Amino acid sequence: MRMVDVIEKKREGHFLSVEEINYVIQGYVQGKIPDYQVSAWLMAIFFQGMTDQESSALTKAMLESGEVIDLSKISGIKVDKHSTGGVGDKTTLILGPLVAACGAKVAKLSGRGLGHTGGTLDKLESIDGCRINLTEEEFINQVNRIGIAVAGQTGEIVPADKLLYALRDVTGTVPSIPLIASSIMSKKLASGADVICLDVKIGDGAFMKTIEDARELSRIMVSIGESFGKNVTAFITDMDQPLGHAIGNRLEVKEAIETLSGKGPDDLVELCTDIASHMIYYAKQAPTLEAAKALAVEKLNNGEALAKFNEFIIAQGGTLPDLKNFIKVKQIIPFKAKKAGYVLQIKALNIGLTSMKLGGGRETKDDIIDPMVGIILKKKIGEQVQIGDTLAEIYANHNVDSDIFETLEEAFQIVEYPVEKPNIILEVIS
Ligand code: URA
Repeated sequence: MRMVDVIEKKREGHFLSVEEINYVIQGYVQGKIPDYQVSAWLMAIFFQGMTDQESSALTKAMLESGEVIDLSKISGIKVDKHSTGGVGDKTTLILGPLVAACGAKVAKLSGRGLGHTGGTLDKLESIDGCRINLTEEEFINQVNRIGIAVAGQTGEIVPADKLLYALRDVTGTVPSIPLIASSIMSKKLASGADVICLDVKIGDGAFMKTIEDARELSRIMVSIGESFGKNVTAFITDMDQPLGHAIGNRLEVKEAIETLSGKGPDDLVELCTDIASHMIYYAKQAPTLEAAKALAVEKLNNGEALAKFNEFIIAQGGTLPDLKNFIKVKQIIPFKAKKAGYVLQIKALNIGLTSMKLGGGRETKDDIIDPMVGIILKKKIGEQVQIGDTLAEIYANHNVDSDIFETLEEAFQIVEYPVEKPNIILEVIS
């Protein structure tokens, strides 16, 4: 087989066989096919797309490029979730303990944040002592013992994705839907869960900008999951504003704990209980989706979800946060409305970038983050504001320059007419 023939075949819009896809992925990972040929192939896929069969074959080839976690030593149905990246997205911290408290087994590999989106590992590491570098044995034993463990991905999982993603990043091919789907699904499938819930964000600051693209990505990921015999559900969810009120590592941990205590913001509670209901139902811990949702709501309100969170943090070596002293910053600066009206949009990208500029996120992979800083939103979409009302609070440890105020100014779109509160879940595809 010659790489140039495979490139030309895709360029002309023909379907690639499993052998051809395996040839490219194996050849690239082994260093036998150069970047420039794989770049051309990626661009051909970007323009010509892939069928569901090709996307599944690509996912399988990527998955087989590295280690697949064997969760067979965990008894029961293993559940996992993945978000395509949001701002203020602390759902794993809530969903994990919540569904574990309902009897499902949560064995989750998570990532770090980069750019305007945060990462679960950074949030967990903001808790004193909390370890995310569990060995495979520790990880499996912990899930068997308490129903939940969260760890960082090891270097050996899907090496093909690391190589391909880096190349896509510099060749303008990141937004290809089959490439995104196989990138996400290869990592999820390598993590070994039986039931996978995907949170596909749509809107400002999200990968998917339109409902049509989000639907197509969701459909392909569900189809890939099915071809591997997994139960996959995709939730298309709104990112026209950050999720909940808190953005920044410790601020988000605090909001997660409040939510697990039955005192969370509406959008976050709705998203978590809806996704939880699917995980609980497909893990066979409730007879119907409705019963699963009722169980999730009950566990948030009766203290059992919080108790599971505490057990989880202690198991990972962490010290339970004393919320009164958990967040200490040099200054909390109110950001005030200059205009009266109703909040139409809070650009998630701008809020995420503000948190990053305050030190709460990473611009490059090696940046050190400040776990204390971030933003608390005081108004959300649909709320009425008067001139001088606080729209957000800035938690800072350094001087806040005009750039940050300008980014926030752009984030809040205030209009004169009343605005309805948006739905957080737009569609569910399974
Ligand atoms: N997230 C991933 O893991 N891969 C992509 O290609 C896009 C988002």
